[in-house]
Amino acid sequence: MSNKVLNGKELAVSIKNELKQKISCLDKKPNLAVIMVGNNPASDVYVKNKEKSCLEVGISTSTYKLPEQTSKEELLNLIEKLNTSNDVNGILVQLPLPAHLNTDEILNTISPLKDVDGFHPLNTGLMIKKQKAFTPCTPKGIIKLLHTIKKDLTGLNAVVVGRSQIVGLPIAHLLINENCTVTVTHSKTKNLASICKNADILIAAIGRAEFITKEFIKENAIIIDVGINRTKDGLKGDVKFSDALDICSYITPVPGGVGPMTIAMLLENTYDAFLNQNNS
Ligand code: NDP
Repeated sequence: MSNKVLNGKELAVSIKNELKQKISCLDKKPNLAVIMVGNNPASDVYVKNKEKSCLEVGISTSTYKLPEQTSKEELLNLIEKLNTSNDVNGILVQLPLPAHLNTDEILNTISPLKDVDGFHPLNTGLMIKKQKAFTPCTPKGIIKLLHTIKKDLTGLNAVVVGRSQIVGLPIAHLLINENCTVTVTHSKTKNLASICKNADILIAAIGRAEFITKEFIKENAIIIDVGINRTKDGLKGDVKFSDALDICSYITPVPGGVGPMTIAMLLENTYDAFLNQNNS
C-alpha cells in the first residue's frame, strides 16, 4: 500500500485492542442497546458489524429489531425504558428510520448521557462550545486520523463537501475547534471545484461515487473520503482514488479508511458512557 494511504483499519484495530484491555479490567461490562426499525439491508450489515466489534472488545449488546410499521409511541416507550435501565450504558438508533417516524424527534428522546452516536442537540451544543460531550463517531474518527499525520492543524484551509447533521456539519465544527479555516459546501455551492482546489484538507461526505476528481484537488492536499457508495464495480468512495493518489499527500481508502474508525469511536463512546455512569 502506498505510504500516502491513511490506514483507518489499522488505527481502529489498535484503538480496539487498547479498549479491550481496559474493559477486561472492569468488574461489569459496558452494554450498548441497538434499535433497528424495518428491514434495510445496508442497516443490517452496519448493525452486524457494530455487534461484532462490540463483542471483540468485551462490550455486550442488546439489539431490538422492530417491524417497519412500529409507531412513534412504541419506539419512544422502548427508548424511555432503555434510558432508565441501569443495565444499558449506550443507546443507538440505526438510521435511516422509516419515513413515518421523525428522526430528530426520536433521537432527541435518547438520554444525552447514553447518546453514544452524539446526535442529541445537547451534545451538539456542548461539542460546539468545546465542552465535554459525546462527539459523533465519524467526525471524531476523522480527527483522530488527521492527528496521526499532523498533531497541530492550526491555520490549514479545510473544505468540507456535504452539510449533513451526522458528518458534514460536525466535522466542520471540530475542524474549527482545531483552528482550521473551514469552508462548508453543499449541492447549491457554485464553483465547487475551485473552492476545493484551495483545500489543504478536503473532506468529501457527499454520497456520490467518485465525484471528486483531479480538478478538485490541491497539490499535497490531505483527502478524507467519507463516502460509501455501492456500485456495480463494488464499494466506491466520493473521491476518484486513482486521480487523487498522484496529487495528494494523504488519502483515506474506501473501504478501510473512515468506516472502521467510525465503529472504533462508537466503542470508545460506549466505554466512556459506562465510566461516566459508574463514576469511574
Ligand atoms: P447526506 O445525504 O445526508 O448528505 C450529503 C451531503 O452532500 C448534503 O449536504 C448534500 O447537499 C451534499 N451534496 C450532494 N450532492 C452534492 C453535489 N453535487 N455537490 C456538492 N454537495 C453535494 O449524506 P451523509 O452525510 O449521511 O453521508 C455522506 C456519505 O458518507 C454517504 O456516502 C454515506 O454512506 C457515507 N457515510 C459514511 C460513514 C462512514 O463511516 N464511512 C458514516 C456516515 C456516512 P445538500 O445539503 O445541499 O443536499
